[in-house]
Amino acid sequence: MVIYDMKSMRAEEFISDTEIVETLRYADENKDNMPLIEEILEKARPQQNENGCTCRGLSHREASVLLSCEDKEVIERIYEIAEEIKLAFYGNRIVIFAPLYLSNYCVNGCLYCPYHYNNGNIARKKLTQEEIRAEVIALQDMGHKRLAIESGEDPVNNPIEYILESIDTIYNVHHKNGDIRRVNVNIAATTVENYKALKDAGIGTYILFQETYNKAGYEKLHPTGPKHDYAYHTEAMDRAMEGGIDDVGLGVLFGLEGYRYEFAGLLMHAEHLEAVHGVGPHTISVPRVKRAEGIDPGAFDNSISDDIFTKITACIRLAVPYTGMIVSTRESEEVRQRLLKVGISQVSGASRTSVGGYTEKERPHDTEQFDVSDQRSLDEVVGWLMDNGHIPSFCTACYRAGRTGDRFMSLCKSGQILNCCHPNALMTLSEYLEDYASEETKRRGYKMIEEELLRIPKAEVRRVAEENIREIRNSNRRDFRF
Ligand code: SAM
Repeated sequence: MVIYDMKSMRAEEFISDTEIVETLRYADENKDNMPLIEEILEKARPQQNENGCTCRGLSHREASVLLSCEDKEVIERIYEIAEEIKLAFYGNRIVIFAPLYLSNYCVNGCLYCPYHYNNGNIARKKLTQEEIRAEVIALQDMGHKRLAIESGEDPVNNPIEYILESIDTIYNVHHKNGDIRRVNVNIAATTVENYKALKDAGIGTYILFQETYNKAGYEKLHPTGPKHDYAYHTEAMDRAMEGGIDDVGLGVLFGLEGYRYEFAGLLMHAEHLEAVHGVGPHTISVPRVKRAEGIDPGAFDNSISDDIFTKITACIRLAVPYTGMIVSTRESEEVRQRLLKVGISQVSGASRTSVGGYTEKERPHDTEQFDVSDQRSLDEVVGWLMDNGHIPSFCTACYRAGRTGDRFMSLCKSGQILNCCHPNALMTLSEYLEDYASEETKRRGYKMIEEELLRIPKAEVRRVAEENIREIRNSNRRDFRF
């Protein structure tokens, strides 16, 4: 039997199958244990003290009990606490980004992904640096400042040198008032040396979805290619941190395996990172498997309902209160609206999941990774967020000011977001409104900015933010930040 050891560097020990099975049994046994559930809810709730507000989070076992509980009233309270935590640490800001697909060449055999090696029906494409420039200009012209680059795994077609050169190209496109200020990277598990090179290239978060924490399932879903190696994939974040990247993003692809197993595994992974590196994941994404060329999500028998999906999101929010949470355009407007209320802090907007999709007039489908449910323009997404009381934020200040890893977490825990992230969000929103928004969005946006400026506690910070926003409106000066 494998011993569970949160601090082990071996995947099978920090994501111990025995511990997950035991956790699910414990959760089943206690799903109606109201005194215990009350205790867990109380532990999750933000606490006010002399240093502001703090949260204790939940262990994977505690959070699994909540996830198993079917009592409607308890579920409502989970949602309320999730919203409270989101507002306490992230405020009403929602960070916006877009994916940029560089290449769909791939040597892996992932059964759920249309980029898999054996798919002869999909056009293969890899962007040249010139094409990347054109894509970035199109993204800047929409108003994007933050990208997540995506690529298949192919050491011949997409070697690390290609990824590094592409990052450099992206950072060096400055079109009109536009620039990309943060490039997050979602590429296959790699070596410490390559993670060091990514760090030196100035990336933001390194994102790698686990797909599934269930080793047996993982091996079946990844029958061929380097990704078949469960341990190499699962230990990737440790190598990334060893390489100096301290903002890492976790996620599982919900629908592939049992969601309760994935949920426990995901939290155990977060606990492992915190225990070993002193800092948990910067973000957690919650993708669900979608229809794609040759891929029928119905072929995977673990699809989850919107209700369960919302509950998973809220329970993650309670368990890891300081971690950013991301939902992509895989989800519809309706589902995204629900998830925004229970803890999501970042969304993608106006995404195209095809290689070279942003320069096309019509959304292309030939190289697409999966169907996009939310197909609205960025202007519509920005307007919609504001209509729902969220400040659309294009802020990238933290990592550029060196506030990554535990330094970001300290800022989050200190409750200083209203004096720092909040004005940054308003200033970057103002940039968006000046340079890219429709007249209607601009009108609503400035109304929101006016109201939200009043919420900045420190008078001096408020004064500087107001002055900077005046400057943005009256000149081409951009990129102010606290
Ligand atoms: N190739 C890299 C890797 O192997 O990790 C990462 C890039 S891949 C473009 C990004 C993610 O898309 C994958 O990790 C997977 O979770 C997700 N994905 C693949 N097929 C999908 C599908 N049919 N529906 C939804 N998401 C999918």
